[in-house]
Amino acid sequence: MKRPVIQFALNDYCSHRCWYCISAPTWEGSKTGYIDKIGLDKYFDFLMGFTQGHTCTFRFGGQEPTEHPLFYPLLLKLLATEHYIEVITNGLKLEDILTDEIIQYKNKIKWEMSYHLGMYIFDYSSSREDKWNGSFIKAVKCGSVQLVIPMTPGLLRDELNLDDLFNTLRDAGDVTFELIEFYYKDYPRAYTQEEKQRWFELRNEYQEPISMEEIESIININRVMYLKGMPCYYMNRIVNIMYDGSTRLCGAGFPPKIGAGFKIKNHASPCDYDSCNCISLGYENCLKPLGMNYTDYLLLNRPEIKKTFLKKAMVTIKKHGL
Ligand code: SF4
Ligand code: SF4
Repeated sequence: MKRPVIQFALNDYCSHRCWYCISAPTWEGSKTGYIDKIGLDKYFDFLMGFTQGHTCTFRFGGQEPTEHPLFYPLLLKLLATEHYIEVITNGLKLEDILTDEIIQYKNKIKWEMSYHLGMYIFDYSSSREDKWNGSFIKAVKCGSVQLVIPMTPGLLRDELNLDDLFNTLRDAGDVTFELIEFYYKDYPRAYTQEEKQRWFELRNEYQEPISMEEIESIININRVMYLKGMPCYYMNRIVNIMYDGSTRLCGAGFPPKIGAGFKIKNHASPCDYDSCNCISLGYENCLKPLGMNYTDYLLLNRPEIKKTFLKKAMVTIKKHGL
């Protein structure tokens, strides 16, 4: 069985102020959460209660977990167990908070870092570059790194020398790159031919090979998957614990189900939702275990997706009088 995931948030806060943040204004959210209410030790026991005797992955989510003062002590306590750790982070604080103590656990920790360019998304500014590069190198020494980088126009013009950065990180340790499309206003459709070509070259060099056609299909698809009724493992394998201690099952569908009865099972259940708003979660938990290729899904279903999407959009507009 694929390892179950206990995903949790310590706070509802991130100080980074990216204007494109889907959770904005994160800088006005709560810096504290359930962990502050019950204390570190009880929170650790609370998390352990979800494992049900399985070896699990504990995933620090957020907003930004490294901004919570108990992030590091909790990380150390979890690392001392048989479980695995993933941290979703903007990476800005890692250089300051990671100590050499973590290196001994490097085989069981993964840093999933997003290269958030904040206000500089169109015109790359080097003001945060040193900070990031330091954090990336430190993280690679303390575990594996998955670096998620939205392909902004500035980056595709190579205002930051991506080849230098990627090769430095590759030399330092175990790192994978995920070069994803940039979503803002007219993007991703507004990519120029030259920008698409550069993205294609970068993906071929640093990520698994992908065809230009696949890039086109990713760019042209709406970020919604229609998987209702299909067998999906999400609800039997992943629980989301919100910063206030409440729990949710599938966070990709809407509205999410309350997760009070979360039971880890080694089988899939039919997806309850009209649409799966997170392509990567739908793919990982439904299509991939079924042996279905993502590109085939996109290409086979694109006309149907467009039709269904438009129909649903009209219903929503009528219902809410938008
Ligand atoms: S770093 Fe991430 S969580 Fe923080 S404001 Fe930016 S997009 Fe939002
Ligand atoms: S297909 Fe998507 S929405 Fe449905 S249960 Fe799986 S992850 Fe959730």
